[in-house]
Amino acid sequence: MALHTLANLVNGRLLEPAGHAYLDVFEPATGKVYARCPDSDARDVSAAVAAAAHAAPAWAALAVGERAQHLQRLADAVAANLDRLAREESRDNGKPVTLARQVDIPRAVANLRFFAEAITQWPGESHADARAINLTLRQPLGVVGCISPWNLPLYLFTWKIAPALAAGNAVVAKPSEITPFTAFRLAELAIECGFPPGVLNIIQGLGPKVGTAIVEHPVVKAISFTGSTRTGAYIAAACAKAFKKSSLEMGGKNPAIVFADADLSDANLDTIVRSGFSNQGEICLCGSRLLVERSIYAGFKQRYLDKVKALRVGDPNDAASDLGALVSKAHFDKVTTCIQRARDEGGTVLTGGNTVQPQGRCADGWFVAPTVIEGLPQDCATNREEIFGPVVTLIPFTDEDEAIAIANGTDYGLAASIWTRDLGRANRVAGRIDFGIVWVNCWMLRDLRTPFGGVKHSGMGREGGTEALRFFTEPKNVCIAN
Ligand code: NAD
Repeated sequence: MALHTLANLVNGRLLEPAGHAYLDVFEPATGKVYARCPDSDARDVSAAVAAAAHAAPAWAALAVGERAQHLQRLADAVAANLDRLAREESRDNGKPVTLARQVDIPRAVANLRFFAEAITQWPGESHADARAINLTLRQPLGVVGCISPWNLPLYLFTWKIAPALAAGNAVVAKPSEITPFTAFRLAELAIECGFPPGVLNIIQGLGPKVGTAIVEHPVVKAISFTGSTRTGAYIAAACAKAFKKSSLEMGGKNPAIVFADADLSDANLDTIVRSGFSNQGEICLCGSRLLVERSIYAGFKQRYLDKVKALRVGDPNDAASDLGALVSKAHFDKVTTCIQRARDEGGTVLTGGNTVQPQGRCADGWFVAPTVIEGLPQDCATNREEIFGPVVTLIPFTDEDEAIAIANGTDYGLAASIWTRDLGRANRVAGRIDFGIVWVNCWMLRDLRTPFGGVKHSGMGREGGTEALRFFTEPKNVCIAN
């Protein structure tokens, strides 16, 4: 079978990488190479930055309504190709196609539409007194860089480029080299729907080559990054040195805290299960530490395990699969090593703990069974470090104070969920836990207007709503004397 050969988007054209080199792209469900992704380098980034710098002034000068229309047309194109993009996302990432169809691609459309609308509704600021009126302008930065990860490929790629473009910037964007396909399709769609050349440029390739070239290019004024804490630390340092803005969305080790008074209806229990295993546990928001009040621990554990055991792992194309394959062989090896480490630390595997080899076309894919582990102390590596796979640890607690101490006992601080009927308690606990996002009696219920991001090693800065528009603009105060 001929391999798909992907290309970069530079100045409104699909281009080969300058070095003519390509990287293998694997289908996680089969373990086989199915596409070739440009192995671009600093030359490709320079060409993209030059195109962006050329296009930026005219893009910034467009009436907001016109910029919004361009984004809406791109959203229309993604929506019109929803089913095909969902299948392509699933093939590239290993996630069930039903999930890509219900979550990833609709959310990519929503991101583009949300920021197209938001920019037309963004009020300016003014401060007047008897002497003068101060007008605070929000001017675009010029050329900005957007770097995204593999777990929600088109979803997070559009989450970054949409506010950057809406605010009037030209963009040089880099998707993950592990999941480059849908960003390539977006490049094709941008050309088809007449997106102005040079305003959106997409360079494919490796982080240490393409990513660093974007971060360190002197014309690039800001970096919006989502990925690992390790890469984020490099980007924070590089941007600080060059006085660039950076917004960093990084790893997590999120707690779900279940109090004895929680409404543990079947539907809520399903949400708690989903919060651990959706997208194979490869969502930064997944609750990988499940804290349960001791008085209900035994009963809860039984019901929870029954549901986890019922999850089906298999071919992502099969509508019956709840979990697909892990994204890469390297990540599969990491997750299985983490499970072994949990055993070595004294943990008891209650279900899962094994790899899965479906019959037929997926026999060589990278599948891991949903895994639940108990009996580990809070301060062990398993309970402190991100695994980013279908692995949840069960941790009993005695009271509110202990639950809070356990929840906060990690360097990360992205998202937490609290399950209780007592609103006073929900309020108290939410106030005392060190996380940027707290859900009460729900999980991953997203309103795109809200600030999104983490504290500690999970993030610096916030995305979403006006936070993103503020990040991608520079305030300029103009004081006009009376
Ligand atoms: P990663 O840091 O390896 O890669 C992320 C992106 O950065 C990729 O495009 C990669 O090519 C690029 N990159 C790598 N090295 C670079 C460098 N030196 N300079 C510039 N760019 C570089 O992360 P990943 O493995 O792709 O993604 C998984 C991680 O992302 C997990 O830690 C997960 O928690 C995190 N994540 C966080 C959020 C959030 O919103 N906080 C959302 C999704 C994923």
